[in-house]
Amino acid sequence: MASELEPEVQAIDRSLLECSAEETAGKWLQATDLTREVYQHLAHYVPKIYCRGPNPFPQKEDMLAQHLLLGPMEWYLCGEDPAFGFPKLEQANKPSHLCGRVFKVGEPTYSCRDCAVDPTCVLCMECFLGSIHRDHRYRMTTSGGGGFCDCGDTEAWKEGPYCQKHELNTSEIEEEEDPLVHLSEDVIARTYNIFAIMFRYAVEILTWEKESELPADLEMVEKSDTYYCMLFNDEVHTYEQVIYTLQKAVNCTQKEAIGFATTVDRDGRRSVRYGDFQHCEQAKSVIVRNTSRQTKPLKVQVMHSSIVAHQNFGLKLLSWLGSIIGYSDGLRRILCQVGLQEGPDGENSSLVDRLMLNDSKLWKGARSVYHQLFMSSLLMDLKYKKLFAVRFAKNYQQLQRDFMEDDHERAVSVTALSVQFFTAPTLARMLITEENLMTIIIKTFMDHLRHRDAQGRFQFERYTALQAFKFRRVQSLILDLKYVLISKPTEWSDDLRQKFLEGFDAFLELLKCMQGMDPITRQVGQHIEMEPEWEAAFTLQMKLTHVISMMQDWCALDEKVLIEAYKKCLAVLMQCHGGFTDGEQPITLSICGHSVETIRYCVSQEKVSIHLPVSRLLAGLHVLLSKSEVAYKFPELLPLSELSPPMLIEHPLRCLVLCAQVHAGMWRRNGFSLVNQIYYYHNVKCRREMFDKDIVMLQTGVSMMDPNHFLMIMLSRFELYQIFSTPDYGKRFSSEITHKDVVQQNNTLIEEMLYLIIMLVGERFSPGVGQVNATDEIKREIIHQLSIKPMAHSELVKSLPEDENKETGMESVIEAVAHFKKPGLTGRGMYELKPECAKEFNLYFYHFSRAEQSKAEEAQRKLKRQNREDTALPPPVLPPFCPLFASLVNILQSDVMLCIMRTILQWAVEHNGYAWSESMLQRVLHLIGMALQEEKQHLDSVTEEHVVTFTFTQKISRKWEEDRKLPFPTEDYVVSPMVSDTTLTALGPAQTQVPEQRQFVTCILCQEEQEVKVESKAMVLAAFVQRSTVLSKNRSKFIQDPEKYDPLFMHPDLSCGTHTGSCGHIMHAHCWQRYFDSVQAKEQRRQQRLRLHTSYDVENGEFLCPLCECLSNTVIPLLLPPRNIFNSRLNISDQPKLTQWIRTISQQIKALQVLRKEESTPNTASSKNSENLDELQLPEGFRPDFHPKNPYSESIKEMLTTFGTATYKVGLKVHPNEEDPRVPIMCWGSCAYTIQSIERILSDEDKPLFGPLPCRLDDCLRSLTRFAAAHWTVASLSVVQRHFCKLFASLVPDDSHGDLPCILDIDMFHLLVGLVLAFPALQCQDFSGIGLGTGDLHIFHLVTMAHIVQILLTSCTEENGMEQENPAGEEESAVLALYKTLHQRTGSALRETPSGWHLWRNVRNGIMPFLKCSALFFHYLNGVPSPPEIQVSGTSHFEHLCNYLSLPNNLICLFQENNEITKLLIESWCHHIEVKRYLEGERDAISYPRESNKLIDLPEDYSSLINQASNFSCPKSGGDKSRAPTLCLVCGTLLCSQSYCCQTELEGEDVGACTAHTYSCGSGVGIFLRVRECQVLFLAGKTKGCFYSPPYLDDYGETDQGLRRGNPLHLCKERFKKIQKLWHQHSITEEIGHAQEANQTLVGIDWQHL
Ligand SMILES: [Zn+2]
Ligand SMILES: [Zn+2]
Ligand SMILES: [Zn+2]
Ligand SMILES: [Zn+2]
Ligand SMILES: [Zn+2]
Ligand SMILES: [Zn+2]
Ligand SMILES: [Zn+2]
Repeated sequence: MASELEPEVQAIDRSLLECSAEETAGKWLQATDLTREVYQHLAHYVPKIYCRGPNPFPQKEDMLAQHLLLGPMEWYLCGEDPAFGFPKLEQANKPSHLCGRVFKVGEPTYSCRDCAVDPTCVLCMECFLGSIHRDHRYRMTTSGGGGFCDCGDTEAWKEGPYCQKHELNTSEIEEEEDPLVHLSEDVIARTYNIFAIMFRYAVEILTWEKESELPADLEMVEKSDTYYCMLFNDEVHTYEQVIYTLQKAVNCTQKEAIGFATTVDRDGRRSVRYGDFQHCEQAKSVIVRNTSRQTKPLKVQVMHSSIVAHQNFGLKLLSWLGSIIGYSDGLRRILCQVGLQEGPDGENSSLVDRLMLNDSKLWKGARSVYHQLFMSSLLMDLKYKKLFAVRFAKNYQQLQRDFMEDDHERAVSVTALSVQFFTAPTLARMLITEENLMTIIIKTFMDHLRHRDAQGRFQFERYTALQAFKFRRVQSLILDLKYVLISKPTEWSDDLRQKFLEGFDAFLELLKCMQGMDPITRQVGQHIEMEPEWEAAFTLQMKLTHVISMMQDWCALDEKVLIEAYKKCLAVLMQCHGGFTDGEQPITLSICGHSVETIRYCVSQEKVSIHLPVSRLLAGLHVLLSKSEVAYKFPELLPLSELSPPMLIEHPLRCLVLCAQVHAGMWRRNGFSLVNQIYYYHNVKCRREMFDKDIVMLQTGVSMMDPNHFLMIMLSRFELYQIFSTPDYGKRFSSEITHKDVVQQNNTLIEEMLYLIIMLVGERFSPGVGQVNATDEIKREIIHQLSIKPMAHSELVKSLPEDENKETGMESVIEAVAHFKKPGLTGRGMYELKPECAKEFNLYFYHFSRAEQSKAEEAQRKLKRQNREDTALPPPVLPPFCPLFASLVNILQSDVMLCIMRTILQWAVEHNGYAWSESMLQRVLHLIGMALQEEKQHLDSVTEEHVVTFTFTQKISRKWEEDRKLPFPTEDYVVSPMVSDTTLTALGPAQTQVPEQRQFVTCILCQEEQEVKVESKAMVLAAFVQRSTVLSKNRSKFIQDPEKYDPLFMHPDLSCGTHTGSCGHIMHAHCWQRYFDSVQAKEQRRQQRLRLHTSYDVENGEFLCPLCECLSNTVIPLLLPPRNIFNSRLNISDQPKLTQWIRTISQQIKALQVLRKEESTPNTASSKNSENLDELQLPEGFRPDFHPKNPYSESIKEMLTTFGTATYKVGLKVHPNEEDPRVPIMCWGSCAYTIQSIERILSDEDKPLFGPLPCRLDDCLRSLTRFAAAHWTVASLSVVQRHFCKLFASLVPDDSHGDLPCILDIDMFHLLVGLVLAFPALQCQDFSGIGLGTGDLHIFHLVTMAHIVQILLTSCTEENGMEQENPAGEEESAVLALYKTLHQRTGSALRETPSGWHLWRNVRNGIMPFLKCSALFFHYLNGVPSPPEIQVSGTSHFEHLCNYLSLPNNLICLFQENNEITKLLIESWCHHIEVKRYLEGERDAISYPRESNKLIDLPEDYSSLINQASNFSCPKSGGDKSRAPTLCLVCGTLLCSQSYCCQTELEGEDVGACTAHTYSCGSGVGIFLRVRECQVLFLAGKTKGCFYSPPYLDDYGETDQGLRRGNPLHLCKERFKKIQKLWHQHSITEEIGHAQEANQTLVGIDWQHL
């Protein structure tokens, strides 16, 4: 942006600079009315500094403001030069022991799970690392901004409140010491004066609402006529809407509009036009008009420039105050005093009050500035924090009301400061007792939920969007309530009791409004028309869950409070169900001589509600009476006699019956909303204060009443009374009713009822119900979860209820019940149940879902069978009930119970009895088992009158068939055939002759088998060609103009190669073509219909392999070794030596060049050319006019062209053109590059060169090499010859090629492949009897020699200290001689020789990769099997490689044997100017062996990455924190991803920073780490991407994508290696393809915007 603004910069007014800060301050010191004096100064200067044009100039403004405005204040304050004054203040300061560091967005924060009082207590990274908590269990999160470090706050930490740094200061602190004692009287007075004036000025101007008029004392004499059209932020309009509107309204470019919108979003406002009033007003009306169609128009104001100027300075001033008070705690205290001092208008007139009460009117930027000032002043001074808290509490209702009207997020509202007071225990307690905070919060909350039904209950069923929006905002109040309650009191004062109980009353009022809300009625006949809104009610319940639990925790702490609360709760419940009969008729039930009065009520016919918080709170308190023993200590104080058990159980019972009926399918017509509600009722997030408490309430009821009565009422509510009360009902019933559904329904209901009875008797693991402690409860949960299957830590955590501190208590018991199994390369660490815990398994555990129950049953039976035990699952031994619940067990032996059991058992034996089910029987037997257990325990302890009359002990066993056989794993490798011949030679005249092997393959599409032959139809392999920078040694280089780029010579930095991969699946060429055409047609239809992306881009030729769905973009033809086809004229005996051969070839080349010149010259000059021709003697046997016949079938030729063109198109990123002379080069290049990359992978993994290579790699390399060797047959002969000549000339210079690269700048392997594969084009015209193999061998030797020289020039300069092991051998002296020659030839620029041993070692090491690549290349080219020695790993195989490649073991012999030509060659290579430049240090060169590229090093501890990223700011928008900092794992660059600010244009499209980076760093492929999310991101091209699991694991062997759990994360090296391997293997794109196929939503993500 800066460059565009340059012309607007105005020269700084000289007169401004002449004004002296010292003088001004001096004047102020003399002033009688300081306020007036200062205001005049501001009125004069502020508009001269700020807002001088359409755009701000922060640097210039800051400089002038410091000089003219702030400078004088600093002088005044210090009474001397602030450069001396402030350091003095700082020295005299006794700094606070609080850290108070305010968190930036994205900064890591730490909370200790062992010591933090609540999870809101956090440390900054520095404090954390210096604290004792780093060795505790801690949680790490990234801050959303706001909030500060709690280090030093003794109330926040149970232990270790100070880090090392802040501990230093604690020795000297005296609690109540007044920090002002460290300041002189003068300073205090002056500070007070200046702070009071400036703070008031800032508040006044920031809250100023007039648009063109300044406060009277700031008005200027001469006022300019300039205005701003100011656009404000809101949460209604989207970025796109704002950008679009701005372009229309102020006529700006899209880029400018994006700039405006970004600033508006960040700062809350931005001027979009500058000029006279009319000009601005016009823009305003366009914006308003254009956006009023949405719920409300964008907020725009036309403001006078001087007002904006003063407001900008006001903000600057607040930041200044914040920094000034950093010098001294005394100054800070004065500022606090000034801020909280009541003004002349009394209540709410202090500056702090005024700011708070105007919060929702201020724009975002202003809010965050003053919030930060509050944090660094009021919240850092303990005395004033308290006073501030009181002001906050007093204004609480108003602040919340403002917040509700406002639409900004809570993070930028002053209400978010609540966490700072409410979580501080003493402050919270003080606010409760003195300001009645609990009551205020609850009442404020209730005020905002006015939508009630006739009974005064909340009504969420038909919420409008606006109500829903407000409801979401009002939920933050529940959070406040939670903060207040989170730390429990250790001592109770009478005041606290009274105020807590007052708050409890208010809370009961709230629950009363929920009791019975959103009632439902069973729908019969028709399906419901509209799904009622149920989520709001459940959201409320969910948010309140912790608060309800905490209320009970508070009550449990004080007996008096508990008793009072119990009474209050009971009273409210009676109010709710005062007329609980609801006018229903009373009826009498009787079974087995027992009878009971109840009402006629049917869940299936009348209204029923799932929301019963008052009943459930009472149930909770009842358990506390038992747990705290208050029930036994003070029975007289409790209203136990007033309890009416039938009333207590009525509504919870209805709710449980509703669940049973839903399960029996009776409520199907009520739609999904009901199913969802039932789900949440049992869900781990809600059950603690819903389902669990309903069970407790029934247990309470049963323990207080005759169990026979209870059972009859229960039968009646289940609508089963008739069945069990009528003798022989079953028989009659079954003969009368044949309706299967009804029978089924009743069966399910009976099963459900029996299940409920099992739960009532068996669920005694809550402390207070049974004689257990909290640990037993959690142990039991875990045992049952792990009975289903082994689980990962996070899975287990999710299945357990969390308390308000997000703790499950799991860690304390997990060791006792489970073993931990570590994770492998994928997957997670798992907990497995210890075998000895299996006996505690209860099949009817009440938190099992149906699915879990049956899975657990299966798993447990299987386990027992494996252990050769009886597979029955009897009820486990249970702990005894607490006395208050002890009588509950009698239900098992009650008459009605026995009657129910007998009836069911009878059905089971009578053939024509009432329809019964196996689960019914199972449950009855389980109950019998429980009764027997109970009996045994009673007998064991004391003999009592307890008698159980059952004799059944049979156990049920079931046969179960399983153990499917797993398919046998298929072998992924093939071993190349072993050949016994020990002297295998891969190339040259002496090449080992391999008998021709016929190859048969099967087409995966038509399943037909075919032999691979020269003349038959083409068979092809699916292949994927991609550009690659994996081997790149120079990422800054990329092809500028692909149309003109000449790829003939590959630079040794390998900066961009073309990689070919294949899944190895074979098809007929025509089958593939048909398949591809159909994919294409299908895709076109789909795009028209859906406009969706697919994971592959058909237009670019992409398709998925029809067998394995591997992403492919072309096919490679399958060929026989092509050399054999052309090598028929071989005559081994008489082949020329290298020198001779080079001469012959040079002559042939010369002849060709002359011929070519003739062809290209017009006929008119033919005479001269013929002369040339005459001059030229055609070498013997050379027939340049000969054109060989192409041996391949049409179909193979076509495929050769197809693949060649694809390589060209992808490799150069150009349009396909099969005629382009660069096509063959690209084919050779891809062959060379792919071999090099595979050689690298094998070396890095220490695998043998010819070891068992995965099939697909083997097939791919073979086809690729043979294809590249055959490609010349479909290319123009002269083009290939020309390439050969040029390549050849780079080693053997001739006069016709001028600017060839020097040997330092040629990758020798690419050169070798090019030369060998282009050579047949020349050789085919040679009839002199020189074999193709001879040429191959000489080319290979020649290139090898060049490479040796290359290595000696670049890689032997470093002498290391190693001593030579053996006396100098043949190789050493040879290489030394060669080096000396080089030394001479380079004019002694080469460094003085190291030892021969050293040189030889370097040559051997440096040349190994080249030899290995060459071995692979010739192996696949000629099909000669590899020597067995190289098939296993071990030593370097140097000698074996040399033998295989027909090289002398002493490589230097190559030079000696061909002495004549060697000298000339070395001469020409060394004379190149670039060699000289290199040796003189003017340029670099690649040295050998090239090291493999690695992904960047990652830190062991993930939080250091977070910290690094939080310090990273967007490179484009001046110092702003980036929202999605993303790290390139290839080069380590941090990017500002997924954000408008860093979008750039790429090929005419706007793309995000990551996509743009992939093009320069990875030629389209990228591997990133999204730091905030802890997620690896793979990108390929613009449309493809996927997320991949990060290489960071927590202690439980799990990743934390999205950083939701916050466990400390550490680098897992193996997983990181796996990612690196994917990269080295060029499998990133394939990985993305598979991920996208598996998860279609990934296809819809706009990857290019990341
Ligand atoms: Zn800190
Ligand atoms: Zn600290
Ligand atoms: Zn700790
Ligand atoms: Zn086929
Ligand atoms: Zn495949
Ligand atoms: Zn950015
Ligand atoms: Zn990069």
